Formats: sequence, structure tokens, C-alpha cells
Amino acid sequence: MTLLVVGSVALDSVQTPFGSAEHVVGGSATFFASSACHFAPVQLVGVVGRDYPMQKLEALAACGVDLAGLERVAGESFRWRGRYGHDLNSAETLETRLGVFADFRPKIPAAFRHAPYVFLANIDPQLQLAVLDQVSSPRFVGCDTMNFWIASRRNELLDVLRHVDLVTLNDGEARQLSEQVNLVHAARWILDRGPRYVVIKKGEHGAFLFSRPDRASEGNSSPDARVRIFFAPAYPLEQVFDPTGAGDAFAGGFMGHVARTDDLSDQNLRRAVVVGSAMGSFAVEAFSNERLLAVTADEIAARIREFYELVTFENGR
Ligand code: AMP
Repeated sequence: MTLLVVGSVALDSVQTPFGSAEHVVGGSATFFASSACHFAPVQLVGVVGRDYPMQKLEALAACGVDLAGLERVAGESFRWRGRYGHDLNSAETLETRLGVFADFRPKIPAAFRHAPYVFLANIDPQLQLAVLDQVSSPRFVGCDTMNFWIASRRNELLDVLRHVDLVTLNDGEARQLSEQVNLVHAARWILDRGPRYVVIKKGEHGAFLFSRPDRASEGNSSPDARVRIFFAPAYPLEQVFDPTGAGDAFAGGFMGHVARTDDLSDQNLRRAVVVGSAMGSFAVEAFSNERLLAVTADEIAARIREFYELVTFENGR
């Protein structure tokens, strides 16, 4: 099943304790697509300026990403500059230059409007809403966001939440959005605003999937019955090189798996969390989207098997 993604296509400049990279391919839609293309056909919508090195996106096209919805207009491409200290879980944003994104109005090509799976990658929530106006009843819509938009476009973001099935955030963003310190409370707060599922990522400490139980169990008013929780660890990598894009790669693996299997059961969404975690772990092994694009189907399958080994145990004696 086809998967449509709308988000940023950027030039990133990143400093980590292990090195730095200047003006490399980045952006939420780029990382998402570089991950999701291993599972399903991806259609990408975004905008770049005339300064964008288009040849760097050829590898994405070769992986099955349809770039017909990527506009190229006069002006500067979106640029993000960030730094990571020894705590690789959170980036410090040094500079965000919206460039051509400041005036971008997403136009979903007619051939993309019927995509059954849609992901609104990290981008201005106003643009996320404009995308929702142009797609015709997708089966499942996910969205992502970040501190920058939670602070500057809160009301629009709350509007987005009313119209999506899934939201992915990291723990700091979940706390910022909900103004709740406890993550279970934060998840419940978010679920109460519309989405059926919320994924809260905790970087190297794994990811939670919180879901609202179906109607059959809604009669039970105990607080625990109002939210189901699944947890997957992050893959214990010995060398994390650059965490940029891990969240988008997670989302690409998650949504890619769901689009490939076309199965929205709770069990399958749990598997999707593990696929997402596996793809996030590849993203951080190199700068930019290099490793994500190079990874093979066998390597993905092997890493997912390692997750299984990591968490299975016998219950009881
Ligand atoms: P993450 O998966 O959270 O590490 O996402 C990293 C990517 O998000 C980088 O490649 C940036 O270009 C992109 N990014 C950073 N800030 C923004 C923003 N305000 N809006 C959209 N994309 C952004």
C-alpha cells in the first residue's frame, strides 16, 4: 500500500562528539522516506530552493520514492543547524532557517491524493492541516512534531491532533505539549485530544506505544483500562555516530511496516514499534541518510530478530 509523506527536505549542519557535517541531506520527510522505502512505495511532498543539490536525492528515487510532489522554487532551502553533547538523546537547535518553507503551501499531486497511509512529518502544523484538506479519506494518518512547533503553533497542533490516528513525539515534547511530568499522564492527555495511538520515544531508552482501548472495553472506567501500553527497547548499539533523523527513521519504519502489511491490529502496531526501533538504530550509524539508504533487507531482518532475542523471556519457573 502506498504511503504519502509531507515534511521538510533540508540541508543540515550537525556537530556531534564524533565529528561534524555541513549542509548534508536532511529533513523530516527525507529521513522518513529513506526508512519507509524499504517497506512500501513512498510518495514525498515538500519544497526545496534552487540551492538544493538535487543529485543527492537520486538515491531516494532509486529506493522507490516518488519525488513528483517535491517542488523546487526560487529561494533558499530549509536549513537546520544542531549540536549534540554526550547526551545523544536531545539535539540543541542552533539555527532554523525556514527559507522556502516560509511561503510553502503544499500541493498534493492528484495521483497522491488517494494514498491509504499518510504521514505528516515534522513541519509547520498549519501545513499539516493543509495536507489533510487535500487527501481523500486515508485509512491511517500519523503525524510528528517538535518543540519548535509546540511552542509557536500550539492551537494549530491541537487541531492536527483531532484529525490523526497516531502521533509520535519524544519524551520532552510529550511533556511540553501536555504540561504533564509523568509520561503515562502525558500520553493519556494526548490520547484525550484525538489520536487513537501515541508513540513516545525515549532515544536510547526505547519507545512506548500508548493506545486507547477499543469501544468494547470503554465501559470500564478504571484509569488503567483507558490506556494500553507496549514498550520496546532501543537497539543497544556500541557506536552511535549522529542521532539526527532517528525519530523520522523510526516513524518511517513504523508507518512503512503498517503500509506494507495493511494491518491495523494492536499486535501489528506493536511489531511496527520494533521495526521503527530497528530503522532508528540504522539511522544513527552514520551522518545524514547514508546508512538508512544502504541498509539491506537481510540486515533489517537480522536486526529485528536481535530485538526478539533482546526482550523474550520465560514467564515463571
Ligand atoms: P529527528 O528525527 O527528530 O532527529 O529530525 C531531524 C530532522 O528534522 C533534521 O534533518 C532537520 O532538518 C529537521 N528539522 C529540524 N527542525 C525542524 C523544523 N522546525 N521543522 C521541520 N523539520 C525540522
